[in-house]
Amino acid sequence: MTLAEILPSLGALDPLPRGGLWPEGTRVGPDGDLLVGGVSMSGVAARFGTPCHVLDEPHARARAREFRAALPEAEVLFAGKSSPVRAVYRWMAEEGLSLDVCSAGEVEVARAAGVPGARVLLHGNAKTDDDLKAALAHGVRRIVVDSPAEVDTLGALCPAGQEVLIRVIPGVDARTHRAITTGVSGQKFGVAPEALPAVVDRIAAHPNLRLVGLHCHIGSQVGRVAAYEEAVRRMVSLFPGPLTTLDLGGGFAAPYRPGESTFDITGLANRVRIALRQECAARRLPVPNLLIEPGRAVIANAGLTLYRVVAVKPGFVAVDGGMSDNPRPSLYGARYAPRLIGRASGARRVPTAVVGRHCEAGDLIAEDVALPQDVHPGDVLAVPATGAYHYAMASNYNMTPRAAVVSVRDGQTDLRVRRETISDLLRRDLG
Ligand SMILES: *Cc1c(COP(=O)(O)O)cnc(C)c1O
Repeated sequence: MTLAEILPSLGALDPLPRGGLWPEGTRVGPDGDLLVGGVSMSGVAARFGTPCHVLDEPHARARAREFRAALPEAEVLFAGKSSPVRAVYRWMAEEGLSLDVCSAGEVEVARAAGVPGARVLLHGNAKTDDDLKAALAHGVRRIVVDSPAEVDTLGALCPAGQEVLIRVIPGVDARTHRAITTGVSGQKFGVAPEALPAVVDRIAAHPNLRLVGLHCHIGSQVGRVAAYEEAVRRMVSLFPGPLTTLDLGGGFAAPYRPGESTFDITGLANRVRIALRQECAARRLPVPNLLIEPGRAVIANAGLTLYRVVAVKPGFVAVDGGMSDNPRPSLYGARYAPRLIGRASGARRVPTAVVGRHCEAGDLIAEDVALPQDVHPGDVLAVPATGAYHYAMASNYNMTPRAAVVSVRDGQTDLRVRRETISDLLRRDLG
């Protein structure tokens, strides 16, 4: 916390931090309201209720285009699990991205969004028959095999010529949170390098399967470009022979608080491109098609969540959501940067914890955030960087209906996912 944040502020309005935390073009109005895509956020809170997830469509599209522009030779697949919303899948497809999915449910969102199976890839460490059947019914072109036994399960269900990749553990430590470190041994995803030759042979022996490449995913919220370069080199060294596809997975970091930087996509592109050419040349292998699977880096900062303040205690502001719409603080110790919107306040900024409404002491959104001392019940807070893995991971803890998803662009608001009702929840309980 800086001195300027603790001292009474000179103006009533805190400036928005630079650096891609909020959607491009987000502005603070003279009355303290927050305008995203030209739309009043206090208006959205009033109209759709809180908590409410808001997505800035142009921002999401622009980030998708950035990935494509940085790596024009690569196929960019949007990681569908980060925001399984039909409109989002459609925007991504319209921007030329393919889609990776990991369940029957995500396959059905892809189908409903009109994303053809030819542009979809299915992965997952424990795909059920239902997941595989849903993917095959939609004509999903590529399936990532995660274990030896899956070769036979998939082979028995799929038509001849099914393209498969093998998920490999590259042994690259992305140095991120343990719960989202997925490229080292001792975690549940993929096949160890020693076990790879046997899986390659098993696929080769199956009449329905055609091995096209290898796949890895080193983790999430990865800030180090070098980790991807390392993954490229390791993966090419594991190629059993010429293959057409190398899928590097996703995991590119996004900023959650002021001062955190956006991922260096151009740096990634340059280093990965060079490493891939060098490594293939050294091993006399043709350069495979490169696939990458960003989720968070595309959609996290396109999103924000609106909450209404319910209770205030010294040092604490409690809002009408929390771990049911944002489990990341409890899963990874993540912390956010909420801001008061909807009115200007000249009150002294004081270090405040923003907590949720749920029955757990760990249900918090922010600690030590500088909020005006006069925040009171009824105020609206906006929390940036909630476009990825919030709606997607929402739960009904404390029988809380899940929040709506609204998108904005050019002054226009579209309700994309309606707010859940308590009747929705009760309908499943058969008594
Ligand atoms: C989760 C996941 C991604 C996306 O990760 P982000 O951190 O959202 O970029 C990509 N590929 C695979 C296989 C994943 O499991």
